[in-house]
Amino acid sequence: MNHHSFVYTSHPARVLFGQPALEVLRAEALKLGQRALVLSTPEQAALGEQAVAALGPTAVGLFSGAAMHVPVDGVDRAEQVVTALGPDMTVAIGGGSTIGLAKALSLRCGLPSLVVPTTYAGSEMTPIWGLTDARGKTTGRDLAVLPRTVIYDPALTLTLPQDVSAASGLNAIAHCVEALYAKDSNPIIALMAAEGIRTLGQGLRCIMIDPHDLTARADALVGAWLGGTVLGLASMALHHKLCHVLGGLYNLPHAQTHAAVLPHALHYNAAAAPDAARTVALALGHSSGPGALYDLAAEFKLLVALRDLGMPESGIETVVSATLASPYPNPAPLEADGLRTLLRRAYSGERPPA
Ligand code: NAD
Repeated sequence: MNHHSFVYTSHPARVLFGQPALEVLRAEALKLGQRALVLSTPEQAALGEQAVAALGPTAVGLFSGAAMHVPVDGVDRAEQVVTALGPDMTVAIGGGSTIGLAKALSLRCGLPSLVVPTTYAGSEMTPIWGLTDARGKTTGRDLAVLPRTVIYDPALTLTLPQDVSAASGLNAIAHCVEALYAKDSNPIIALMAAEGIRTLGQGLRCIMIDPHDLTARADALVGAWLGGTVLGLASMALHHKLCHVLGGLYNLPHAQTHAAVLPHALHYNAAAAPDAARTVALALGHSSGPGALYDLAAEFKLLVALRDLGMPESGIETVVSATLASPYPNPAPLEADGLRTLLRRAYSGERPPA
């Protein structure tokens, strides 16, 4: 990171934090449009219905078909609903998958979105879209998909199970860690990333003790906001590349894969990015950055071995080749032997060396 010469472009955002989302929803929606289509997953359809009720005459209906990784056939079905009901905006209530659908509809139909995140993935703060078809997942950046308004209501995250909260939170920590050593990072991004790791670490630890701790839920949500913000501002490196490849090849669970890979990715980069490793250690009150991330995942009882998440052992070579074939910029040079060692450790869930 060059502290003395950089370009910083912030993204516009209207954020309401800590207010009851369903109470403020209608007034906020009316700042963007007159006819809102509510989006949710099938699992959160009841919450989607509550949003429709809260919007009153401003809602044109609910599409509850959002799914993980934004499959293109789901977007096709949502587009048919858009054509039938004629909304002029969307209201997405849910996690990264639901917000991802709102982004796809911004791209295809030009609809602005108001989003109410209920996980810690951070998608609400990024101009990054993703779409999955038979050939795999395609992602891109486009300011047109950046949600216009975000309402963070910690009470809506109380239902997120502890293990899902932990994995989702480590996904947000991963955004912060890679933003610390991104080629286009800068002191402002680093400040947000360090604070994101600290608040998420603190919030998640308390959530693991008591999932109904609203203050802890609010801390974690602030961390998720920061994580999403830095993900949207800085380019991601080896860790996100590995997770993208693993998810695409073996359909591994998104957030859990982040939790398992992150300590090893930071270990790989620690010599080339010592300030980042120190910042992570300090933010989590530990003597080692990679060790802190590994211990956090273990403390949260997450699966830390990729083999337990569904990766075959033969995948180690496949992932090394796929990573080297189209690498992301990374502080430590990418070379096959080092990547093989990293993946072997992550595959079996070993602790990264001190
Ligand atoms: P998710 O949106 O897939 O949600 C997982 C499940 O949890 C769903 O069934 C959902 O309905 C349920 N759920 C969500 N919130 C809940 C709550 N409060 N209580 C109970 N159940 C709840 O999970 P996610 O981890 O938020 O999102 C993952 C997806 O987001 C991936 O596809 C990932 O690629 C994407 N993502 C995108 C960005 C970006 O910037 N574009 C950033 C991070 C993640």
